[in-house]
Amino acid sequence: MPELPEVETVRRGLAPVMEDATIVAVEQRRPDLRFPFPEDFAARLQGRRIVSVGRRAKFLFIHLDKDPVLIAHLGMSGSFRIHDEDSQEMPGNFRHERTKLAAHDHVVLHLERGGRTHRVVYNDPRRFGFMVFAEAYDLDAHPFLASLGIEPTGNALDGAVLAALLAGRRSPLKAALLDQKLIAGLGNIYVCEALWRAGLSPKRLAGTVSGRRAARLADAIRTVIADAIAAGGSTLRDHQLTDGSLGYFQHSFNVYDREGEPCRREGCAGVVKRVVQSGRSTFYCSACQR
Ligand code: ZN
Repeated sequence: MPELPEVETVRRGLAPVMEDATIVAVEQRRPDLRFPFPEDFAARLQGRRIVSVGRRAKFLFIHLDKDPVLIAHLGMSGSFRIHDEDSQEMPGNFRHERTKLAAHDHVVLHLERGGRTHRVVYNDPRRFGFMVFAEAYDLDAHPFLASLGIEPTGNALDGAVLAALLAGRRSPLKAALLDQKLIAGLGNIYVCEALWRAGLSPKRLAGTVSGRRAARLADAIRTVIADAIAAGGSTLRDHQLTDGSLGYFQHSFNVYDREGEPCRREGCAGVVKRVVQSGRSTFYCSACQR
């Protein structure tokens, strides 16, 4: 499942192609994804100019020159591909994969920008993703967005803010960090990584994190997200050379999916453990995370 860094990588990949482009035509190939497409989906997009591509948590926003805003979510398996005039001829070894994937191409946006045409293709085998419209003036009040917590990417998340969010909470720290009403877009992988980085146990009561611990954790959250976005950025360029896919990348983790392997913290002799919390796997080192 794409987490926030992947979605931000997708945004950064789409923005240079989409911003300032005109939507010439829209192919909508099925009536629904996770939700039905909005009524007159294609007609409301055709002829519009894209002003910007934004993101909040794991929601992508395509802002147009007139209302509405297109909100896109990648769900479990959604991805975008970019095709331009020059990539019509693909190397033979990609042909099979492309043909197979084409059955899951659900939306094709035909764009024109500076006299060049591009196609942006949305592919989603499991169809948990969705595209809906929202009114631009009302975006923050949209049902998907109204209750979202603070973004984990910017300077807004510091120790004092995090301590205030966690104060008095009797849930395990990991569960609190996964609560989208507190911090939006932080998922299982990066919570595990941030807790390892901060040296804090996922089992600790959330309300016990304050002061220097909270500052360390806020710093760890921002850093793991920023590192992942940076890693995605370099992979993104590689992908664009091959099949135009955006947003999925291998990233090396310190604890996530490393059960039984040695802790990577210098001077720690611990071994990474896996426990299940609220139905999700937690990976951590009990020797150095307290
Ligand atoms: Zn350790």
